[in-house]
Order: sequence, then C-alpha cells, then structure tokens
Amino acid sequence: MHYATPQLMEELTACIACSECLLACPALAEAIPIKALNWETLHGPLSPDIARFAQRCYQCGACVPVCPVGLHRDAMMLWLKVRLLLGPDS
Ligand code: SF4
Ligand code: SF4
Repeated sequence: MHYATPQLMEELTACIACSECLLACPALAEAIPIKALNWETLHGPLSPDIARFAQRCYQCGACVPVCPVGLHRDAMMLWLKVRLLLGPDS
C-alpha cells in the first residue's frame, strides 16, 4: 500500500461532491460519479471508467478555480495516475 499525503486525505474529506470540477474538465469523456471517484482515489481497485479518466487527465488545472471549497482535483487526479502506475496493490 502506498500512502497518500495528509493533504490529499484532507481534501478528499472536505469535498462536498458537487461535481463542479468534473463539469469543468475538458478531458472527461464519460459520466463519472464523484463519490466513486473520491473513494477510488484512495481505496480498492480502480474501475475501468475511473482508470480511463485518470489516464486522460492532462493536468490542465481547469478543475481547480471552479471548486467552491478551494480543493485541488488536479492533485487528486495526479495521485490516481500514480496509483495506476504502481498497479492494483497500490
Ligand atoms: S487537471 Fe485533469 S481533471 Fe482537472 S480539468 Fe484538467 S484534465 Fe480535468
Ligand atoms: S468541485 Fe471541489 S467540492 Fe466539488 S466535487 Fe470537485 S473537488 Fe469536490
């Protein structure tokens, strides 16, 4: 298990699941449930749709200024990219 930073865990806890970050994302090609995205950022195997989204994220940052509570979806997605690279046990 690869451990997330305290800041990442704080951000996931603070997320109000409004989905504004996903609505602003130019790389999102299919509907993603925000609660599943938040859960899978830290836990368990990645479902195929969330794995595809993590691959497609190109770290443009468009998801950040739209967040009403000041969170950094780009950093959360970067963490998901790391999980993808590290494999199913990460
Ligand atoms: S950083 Fe990634 S998740 Fe955020 S808007 Fe850009 S492509 Fe989408
Ligand atoms: S915009 Fe912010 S609060 Fe809303 S779902 Fe995205 S990260 Fe969570």
